[in-house]
Amino acid sequence: MNHETPLLLVEDEPHIAQGLIFNLEEEGYQVTHVETGEQALEQLLKKAYALIILDLSLPGIDGLEVCDRLRSQGNQIPILILTARGTEQDRITGLSKGADDYLAKPFNLKEFLLRVAGLLRRANWQPSSPENKFYTFGSNQINLETDQAVTDHGTIQLTELEMKMLLLFFAREGKVLSRGELLKEVWGMSPKTETRTLDNFVVRLRKYFEIDPTKPRYFRTIRGRGYCFIQNPEGN
Ligand code: CA
Repeated sequence: MNHETPLLLVEDEPHIAQGLIFNLEEEGYQVTHVETGEQALEQLLKKAYALIILDLSLPGIDGLEVCDRLRSQGNQIPILILTARGTEQDRITGLSKGADDYLAKPFNLKEFLLRVAGLLRRANWQPSSPENKFYTFGSNQINLETDQAVTDHGTIQLTELEMKMLLLFFAREGKVLSRGELLKEVWGMSPKTETRTLDNFVVRLRKYFEIDPTKPRYFRTIRGRGYCFIQNPEGN
């Protein structure tokens, strides 16, 4: 089996994560570990993974929301849900949100490893398939490998910071990002920094991607709170 493409483990409890990483690595898998759904979505935009092992109850957005967003973005990566919520209803909800398999905690490690292997085998997942290299909204298409964007205004080579900011917006699609979060995540600045840099970046993104940058539909200002990216705005 090809173990070269890493697995993404999304688990906020350190001792559970450690145990799973240890056992997966023993089997020869590479594992990337994140603790929140937001970080998982960001990772998936940056890099190809063979499988997601996803805890359901997480700080911030939960595992079901992660499933939902991935599937609505057209991402078909196999998802194995891990959860303490072992009721029938949770299992059905998880599967209806697009998860491929489900294990209730506490589970047997052998069974866990067999499920991982089974999903990888069945999925025949092509991590470098072209549809996962792109993020699309409106008539804008961004190549996540080359950082090039094709827009109504032409083709643009995005800078590293512009990409960082875009990936954060995409991962939090539909949610308000405060100025503080953006300053911290994109620039590594204190959330209280007084600077126009951030606003200038948003102006630039609007110039690239909005049909009318003075009436933004994708990169919206939420007064007194921050900014919000909408992938599929309704109407005009
Ligand atoms: Ca948890």
